[in-house]
Amino acid sequence: MNTLQDTPRANRIHIGLFGKRNSGKSSLINALTGQETALVSEVAGTTTDPVYKPMEIHGLGPCVFIDTAGLDDEGDLGALRIRQTLKAMERTDIALLVCRDEQIGPEMEWAGQLKEKNIPTIWVLNQADKLEDPLATARAIEKKCGQVPLIASALNRQGMDDILRTLVHKLPDASMEKGIVGHLVSEGDTVLLVMPQDIQAPKGRLILPQVQTLRELLDRKCLVMSCTTDKLPQMLEALARPPKLIITDSQVFGTVYTQKPETSRLTSFSVLFAQYKGDIDYYIQGARALSALTEKSRILIAEACTHAPLSEDIGRVKIPNMLRKRFGQGIQIDMVSGTDFPEDLTPYDLIIHCGACMFNRKYVLNRIEAARKQQVPMTNYGVTIACLQGILDKIDY
Ligand code: SF4
Repeated sequence: MNTLQDTPRANRIHIGLFGKRNSGKSSLINALTGQETALVSEVAGTTTDPVYKPMEIHGLGPCVFIDTAGLDDEGDLGALRIRQTLKAMERTDIALLVCRDEQIGPEMEWAGQLKEKNIPTIWVLNQADKLEDPLATARAIEKKCGQVPLIASALNRQGMDDILRTLVHKLPDASMEKGIVGHLVSEGDTVLLVMPQDIQAPKGRLILPQVQTLRELLDRKCLVMSCTTDKLPQMLEALARPPKLIITDSQVFGTVYTQKPETSRLTSFSVLFAQYKGDIDYYIQGARALSALTEKSRILIAEACTHAPLSEDIGRVKIPNMLRKRFGQGIQIDMVSGTDFPEDLTPYDLIIHCGACMFNRKYVLNRIEAARKQQVPMTNYGVTIACLQGILDKIDY
């Protein structure tokens, strides 16, 4: 169970284990983490839905291991499990491709899929304790796949340090290290957060993008203040100097822009998350597609949360209303949520995504890549609102 001290799963490095049924993926996770976390069985195909196990590993920091079903699973249920495993691949930052002998035909195919998705892959020859000559097997594997597999035995806890060391070296260029606001603030800057607590705000708490941004600003030793939109004039009056940066909820972008001091820079939580979790350049480019929309256009709105619709919902109500007002009532707007995302994006003229704070960056980048490949523009809520309100070139991102 997650505690308040936990790093949200979406912010952890995702390490996916892939391989045949009974290649020892679950035992390997147990050996790597030193805990009996994954269900281990002699019976092939015991792991059903991917299991996510968050861990704190020295040198790696907060990460999550994904234990998947075998990619060679059979039957109707097996096909379902393979689909779930392929979905887990979408979230994977680094893959451990686990084999147990030199018969690696299927593994080579999966390595190809991982490569296509730009997922760094480490080959692991597991169950070395069962092999007569593990080195010879490793050499035979290298000849076929071009990579020397790490030799491991989950049973004897052999090779675990090698795997962890290699994982550290292969860590994807830590885009997360730049953080949410690192490019906009320095120590001692005053930062004002404008957070309307309207009907959409969850009762008694702040939403994750606000909490994460606030925490990072405190870590960066900024001086942080906050207010609701209606109290913005009073807040500004109370300050001796204008804040260096104002971060607002995108829904009130226009209002805050008209009231902000000239010298204060302005951005929104959603825009910050566009660069933190997505590809801000593609999103800005995508927003330009807004100008080409007509009443005949078709838009896909994708939201990571799966909550029930609220009356003032930004994704389901506010943005669709803005689009209809601007481009005509006939504009077609489809909505997907959670992990639903169509494979064929070509019917759409534009995809508008939420800030995706619940997804890891890799997963969002995979969606962007799918859109890019199909030449469909994509942007996010905050960038869309800034663009529709005519202030896209006046904000910071
Ligand atoms: S996942 Fe999307 S909709 Fe849900 S809180 Fe985060 S940004 Fe908002």
